[in-house]
Amino acid sequence: MEVRVGLGFDIHRLEEGKKLVIGGVEIPSEKGFVAHSDGDILFHALTDAILGALGYGDIGELFPDNDPNYKNLPSEFFLKEAKKILDDKKYKIVNIDSVIIIEKPKIMPYRQRIIENTAKVLGIEKERVFVKAKTNEKLDSIGKQEAAACYVVILLKQEDKE
Ligand code: MG
Repeated sequence: MEVRVGLGFDIHRLEEGKKLVIGGVEIPSEKGFVAHSDGDILFHALTDAILGALGYGDIGELFPDNDPNYKNLPSEFFLKEAKKILDDKKYKIVNIDSVIIIEKPKIMPYRQRIIENTAKVLGIEKERVFVKAKTNEKLDSIGKQEAAACYVVILLKQEDKE
């Protein structure tokens, strides 16, 4: 059995009047993401974690943000494309862990929905996905509610290489 680990990171600016979508779940908030797509930091970092584990580059290389074909697509599209590559290479997701760093609003009330939706998009059991959230202790741009960020780590296994 071969195992591979992947790491993903994403950060987006926050502005008033924009939608805050994390893990495909819209969270009521005064501020939301300024981004080419919906700015879903969890799905972007997760997409990068998958692509990184497979040695496949990153989301910006596969889906350039100056390409009009990718403009305003939900981040679920990019995540599903990365999952297709993972499936093609006969890897399976062992588990995903993540940290969302956002000052406001509190993510905890939405955590279960984020976990369930992420698992659903990937077609895996929800027990394989975990989401944690922290503030930045009022420090720097995240602490001043000017941005939010996310780290994701993923473990893949490949049982039989033909
Ligand atoms: Mg992004």
